[in-house]
Amino acid sequence: MVFIDTHCHIDFKCFEPLDEHLAQWHSVGVEHFIVPSVGPENWQRVINLSEQYEHIFPALGIHPCFSDGFAQKEELAQWVARFCQQLVAIGECGLDRRFKDTIERQKEVFIYQLQLAQQFSLPVTIHSVRMNDEVYSILKRYPLSRGGVIHAFQGSLIQAKHFIELGFKLGIGGAITWPRGENLRSVIAQIGVQHLVLETDSPDMPIVGQRKGENTPAAIGYIFETLSSVLAEDAKFLSEILYKNSEDVFFTS
Ligand SMILES: [Zn+2]
Repeated sequence: MVFIDTHCHIDFKCFEPLDEHLAQWHSVGVEHFIVPSVGPENWQRVINLSEQYEHIFPALGIHPCFSDGFAQKEELAQWVARFCQQLVAIGECGLDRRFKDTIERQKEVFIYQLQLAQQFSLPVTIHSVRMNDEVYSILKRYPLSRGGVIHAFQGSLIQAKHFIELGFKLGIGGAITWPRGENLRSVIAQIGVQHLVLETDSPDMPIVGQRKGENTPAAIGYIFETLSSVLAEDAKFLSEILYKNSEDVFFTS
């Protein structure tokens, strides 16, 4: 079985030397890696990696936790225009309630990136932490022809259905393996595989038993096994649908 890790930060320093890591991740079935950026400080790095390694695909964006990105949104537009042929998405972008003081700026930067995605006919990879309803209402106001992924989805069944109605897939990562992930597992069981993609968010979002920052794309196999048992479907069938879902979002324009 082969997998696409649709959201991993393997440009981070902790993954050096990357050659050795990539060989190991390939050996456990991770074929492609979609690497979102967080802000101007790693745009160049993510682009460089994608030029150096054929299995790494870049996304450019401003993460909501870096609200100083407000001043850099025009700069992002220039980068997207320059690299649009090799980008597979805009992101990661979105809203994060943990950073309350900057919510208004986060919204403005998020909307700007949605408009950019639409202008360049790209999907988005969205970070939404306790802001699913707000993200949904913004997405309704700024519809995207290519949709995208709600990365690391955690929310209710109604919120999941709302995103799916707008043409979005839900990113499933380590949270589905957590003992306290009962609620998420029950939502996912009701959603079904056709709306899901796999991700690790490495080095973040540990799987059960890992410490913070220890996660790598190799965890995709364990996330997949957990998902298979939640959905009670044949593993090979599931892996093929998940792979195709990821291709549909990121590799089919
Ligand atoms: Zn991320």
